[in-house]
Amino acid sequence: MTTAAHPPALHHLGGTLYAAQIPIPLPMKTVTVLIDLAPPVTLIDTSIHTPEAQQALEGALSELGLHWPDIERVIVTHIHPDHYGLAGLIEERSGASVQLLEQSIQQEWLWSDWNTHLPAQHRFFAEHGAPPEFGVGEAQTAEWVRPAVRLMPLLEGQSVPLSGAEWQVLWLPGHADGHLGLWQPETQTLIAGDAILPRITPNIGLYVDGRPDPLGDYFATLEKLQALNPVRAVVGHHGPVMEGVAARARDISEHHLERLDELLAAVRERPRHAYDLSFVLFARELPLTGRRFAVAETLAHAEYLRLGGAIDRSLENGVWVYHA
Ligand SMILES: [Zn+2]
Repeated sequence: MTTAAHPPALHHLGGTLYAAQIPIPLPMKTVTVLIDLAPPVTLIDTSIHTPEAQQALEGALSELGLHWPDIERVIVTHIHPDHYGLAGLIEERSGASVQLLEQSIQQEWLWSDWNTHLPAQHRFFAEHGAPPEFGVGEAQTAEWVRPAVRLMPLLEGQSVPLSGAEWQVLWLPGHADGHLGLWQPETQTLIAGDAILPRITPNIGLYVDGRPDPLGDYFATLEKLQALNPVRAVVGHHGPVMEGVAARARDISEHHLERLDELLAAVRERPRHAYDLSFVLFARELPLTGRRFAVAETLAHAEYLRLGGAIDRSLENGVWVYHA
């Protein structure tokens, strides 16, 4: 069959488990969607709500002899658009139950109530020194998500059947507050989502209504990953499979410790708000969306330092200024 858009590469991960790499309009280029043919037929992550992603996922499913109504369960690693985006559409077409960690469900209103979330996010960034035009371009982000209506909570420690084995539900916060992982102890395999990635470090950001110390959370997650020491991990981007997880976790920890040192030195040099400090950690010119990630990541580092007592902050004319 010749089609204009060729179907995405399908990787057989063993047993009834497959990984499809679905195109996304983000620098990572693709996101991993796992497909398990064993009952209940399951997707892990959904990719993003764009026509291209939907078509690619339909192509991957049909290569495995599946159509939307065959999907019985959807597990979402975290609620970012590139992982959760198609959940509502899949729920509607299949009636599948959409399952996420309890901590993700608590934040899911961000998509289902975007009109409340957006002004709150603008106020949040303004309080950290961002210019007024900082919120421009947000409408697109909302279009990337079609929220599911009925969400089923998963709890850490619970086990779920997948590909003929029992997988343990893990909570791996940092990149997202409610980030889920699945661990199979016999094969030492981790379904990691974006909790760890080869080539790029997962964005660790502080956002409105998020947990107070995402970097502290992430250091704990990296410790957990080192202790698990998986033989292999299925990852959200640049995979679908990576090895050397424990070593990568150590390197990423090291990277964030260096960033903390840089930030501490900058705050000691002179008091500044997070928007200004973001140019210390991310000096190069970035598009608005990139700068937003940079400010959120800078804030995660600044708050880690502040909560540890290394720096402080005070409200000056409605803007939080960090000082040593
Ligand atoms: Zn992602």
